[in-house]
Amino acid sequence: MARLVLKRGADRRIRAGHPWVYRGEVADLAGPWSSETPVDVVDAVGRFLGRGFYNPRPSLACRLLTRVDEPVDAGFFARRLRVALEYRARVPSAATGSAAFRLCWSEADGLPGLVVDRYGPVLVVQCLTLGMARAMPSICGGLAALFPGDPVYRVDDPTACRIEGFEPTRGWVTPAGPERVVIAEGGCRFTVTFGAGHKTGFYLDQADNRALVAAHAPGRRVLDAFCYGGAFACQTLAAGAERALLIDSSPEALALARQNLELNGVADRAELSEDNAFDALRRLESAGERFGLVVLDPPPFTRTKGAVDAARRGYKEVNLRGLKLLSPGGVLATFSCSHHVTPAMFEEICRDAAGDAGMTVRVLATLAQSRDHPVLLGVPESRYLTGLLLEAA
Ligand code: SAH
Repeated sequence: MARLVLKRGADRRIRAGHPWVYRGEVADLAGPWSSETPVDVVDAVGRFLGRGFYNPRPSLACRLLTRVDEPVDAGFFARRLRVALEYRARVPSAATGSAAFRLCWSEADGLPGLVVDRYGPVLVVQCLTLGMARAMPSICGGLAALFPGDPVYRVDDPTACRIEGFEPTRGWVTPAGPERVVIAEGGCRFTVTFGAGHKTGFYLDQADNRALVAAHAPGRRVLDAFCYGGAFACQTLAAGAERALLIDSSPEALALARQNLELNGVADRAELSEDNAFDALRRLESAGERFGLVVLDPPPFTRTKGAVDAARRGYKEVNLRGLKLLSPGGVLATFSCSHHVTPAMFEEICRDAAGDAGMTVRVLATLAQSRDHPVLLGVPESRYLTGLLLEAA
C-alpha cells in the first residue's frame, strides 16, 4: 500500500478532526499508487493518521475515509452505508418519512466524495472523486445489501469530474429502473426524472424548510423566487396560500414547475414568470405589488472563497428587494447555499438589508439543510445551506 507522507505541521488539521489533505501538504508518496487503492496517510515522522483515496490532480488530493487501521473494502462501504441509513431512521427529516431522502452525504457520512439519494425504489449515486468512482462495485454491493434488487442510477457532477480527471457517468449501473418516479413530500407529490434537472433530480435539502415555510402560508399571497420545480410554491399552495407567483430564469425549470403544480392540483392559483429574479423583484416593488410570504432560494452566488464579497452584494440586494415586497406582518424565507457564506455572515447581510429597507424584522427561525444532509462539527464545509425565516414586525 502506498504511503502519503505529510509535511511537518500538515497533520494539525487532520488531528483536529478535518479529513482533507491538500497537494501542497504532501512531502512524499512512497510505494506504488493506484486510484482505486487507498493510501496510508502518515505524518512527517511516519505516524499513521488514516487512510483515503489519493489523486495527484486536484489541489484537494486526499480525503480520509478512516482513521483506524482497517481495510477499505466492500465490507467497509457496506458498514458505512448501513450506519448512514440508521442515522436517517433515528433522526427523520421531512423527506425521510416519505421515502425520498439523502442516504449518504459525503464527508458527513464518512464517505467523502460520495452522495447517494433515495427516490422511492431508486437509488441515485453521485461520485465526486476519482477514488469513489473506482469504488462503485463496492458501493453498489453495500446498497444492494440494504435495498436488495433496487435499481441504481449514477449521475456524476461534471464540474467535480473535470477537477478530478474522470469522465462523468449518467445512466443505470444495474438493470434499468423507471424513467421517472413520483415522490411524496408532506402532502405534495413531485416528479423526479432520472438524469434530468438539477442535483440528483430534486432539492431534497430544502424538505424540512418547505414544511416550516408552508406553516406560514394559509391565506397569504406567495412569491417563490428562484423556484426551480416550484416545490416551495406547491407546498405553500397546498397548505392554503391564496395565490403564488413563481419566478425562474430557466424555461426548463418553469416547465417542471408547471407539471408539479398540476400534479398537486394547485396550478389554477399559480402564475409563472420566466425572468431574472433581480429585475423581476425590482419591477414588482415599483408596481406596488406586495406578498404575505416571500421565498428566496437562489443558486450559490459563490463557489470560491475569493468571490465572497461579490456574493455578499448579491445576497444583500436580493434580500433588500425581498423585504421591501413584504406586506405588513409578512414573512420572508431566505437562503444561501454556498458554504463560504456562514450563518453569521448571512445574518449580517440580512441585517444590513433590513437596515437599508428601514424595517424592523423579527427572526422566527434560523434555517439549515434538512437533517438527512448531516453536518459534522469538525467539517464546516458539510454545512452549506443556511437561511432565515424573518417576519416584518
Ligand atoms: N427552491 C427550489 C430550488 C431553487 S434552485 C426548490 O426548492 O426546489 C435555484 C434556481 O434559481 C434554479 O432553478 C435556477 O434556474 C434559478 N436561477 C438562477 N439564477 C437566476 C436568476 N438570476 N433569476 C431567476 N432564477 C434564477
